[in-house]
Amino acid sequence: MKIITRFAPSPTGYVHIGGIRTALYSWLYTRSKKGKLILRIEDTDSSRSNSKYIDSIAAVMKWLSLDWDEGPYIQTKRLNRYNEYVSKLINANLAYKCYCTKERLESLRKSQLAQGIKPKYDGHCRNKYVYYNDSKEYVIRFKNPINGTTSFYDNIRGSISFRNEELDDLIIKRTNGLPTYNLCVVVDDLDMEITHIVRGEEHINNTPRQINILKALNSPIPIYTHVPIILGNSGKKLSKREQATNVLEYKHNGFLPEAIINYIVKLGWTYGNKELININELKAIFNTKSIRKSASKFDYEKLLWVNQQYIKNTSDKYIIEYLYVSLNKSKYKPNIKYGSILKSLIRLYKTRCNTLNLITESFYQFYIDSSSSNETYINYIEAASVLDIVEAIYKEISITKSWSINMITEIIQKISISLNIAVCNIAMLLRIGLLGKAVSPGITQVINIFNKESLLKRIKKVITMLKYNY
Ligand code: GLU
Ligand code: ZN
Repeated sequence: MKIITRFAPSPTGYVHIGGIRTALYSWLYTRSKKGKLILRIEDTDSSRSNSKYIDSIAAVMKWLSLDWDEGPYIQTKRLNRYNEYVSKLINANLAYKCYCTKERLESLRKSQLAQGIKPKYDGHCRNKYVYYNDSKEYVIRFKNPINGTTSFYDNIRGSISFRNEELDDLIIKRTNGLPTYNLCVVVDDLDMEITHIVRGEEHINNTPRQINILKALNSPIPIYTHVPIILGNSGKKLSKREQATNVLEYKHNGFLPEAIINYIVKLGWTYGNKELININELKAIFNTKSIRKSASKFDYEKLLWVNQQYIKNTSDKYIIEYLYVSLNKSKYKPNIKYGSILKSLIRLYKTRCNTLNLITESFYQFYIDSSSSNETYINYIEAASVLDIVEAIYKEISITKSWSINMITEIIQKISISLNIAVCNIAMLLRIGLLGKAVSPGITQVINIFNKESLLKRIKKVITMLKYNY
């Protein structure tokens, strides 16, 4: 049997972590079974759907290299097909027109609540209308079985059963003539010959309803995998503050697509204690059975850690291209030539930064002279005279003949002794003066990357600034 799965997002917002994890699990399952993945856009809720979200779904999937084999099918373009099925169900006496007014349904609900019963449609019109009066408003309802149970096997949770009496005759076509969500899903899954469905657990309650319609249409029932939700680190609902509202934001914030894939696949799926698994390995070993039953917690720090591991192993070429693109977008457009300086910089920062943006930012400090205010120095260094130290550094560097890490270390030590200032304070001063930042890799390594002239130019600038206090 050929495996056919689908990713069926509703374009009512940007794709977030949970949505893309469902896409990833469907994709991995399909790829591991050499099946077919269909992309389907469920946009029948016209008040909430927006085409910009459809574009963003495609863009995220492309960024993460989650390719699909067919589609995107757009539900609002298939309305005729849904209506055909509604007519089929009516003609087979498996659906009926319901003329109940809002008022009647409201008073029904109230009286059921008053009796302590779960509100549900009472089947008032189910066997009533032989002759239709279509000048009155109506909806079409599916004749759900009244007795018995509807059971299905969920790949994660095992067998799940619902008593049919709990499921009322759901509306499949509204008064405005539009088919409803559950009907569209069923018709699409049937037409597209879907064999396996991977989706969020919030759909578990829809599953028996959809199965009953599928059965009424003599359609085979797909195999279901309902994926648990993702919570925030606190154990509560994952908030907008904790996750990017749009997965593409991670791209803009310097995350590698491979790291995102690695992190989200592990978010709810167990594979021993191994933290880093690449996509080819995943394609070979992924199975829906190892998806965890319990909710997972989104941990941004962990995501950063995973990203750092992938950055460490990224080629220099990739980092350089990224750098060029981002620096060219900046207003400074520094002229960065490929050469030993760039290579040393990459070596220095690749193992320290957990996002590509941090690497770019650090490069910025080398190529663009960033000024710091006098106050910044004073805040960091409580030395008698910051100016004396900087001038001494300038003097020593300008007379040195060789240029090596050892030489730089010697200079700093010499000044430390002669001015009685701790080495760490001198290093801090140099960091702020040269890079505009209090954090950097080892200062001697940093200095060694500069050539002597550009270094002296920057120190001179610091001296002027300190002297004239601007
Ligand atoms: N459109 C639904 C959603 O975005 C998914 C429905 C399904 O996969 O069956 O939640
Ligand atoms: Zn009715």
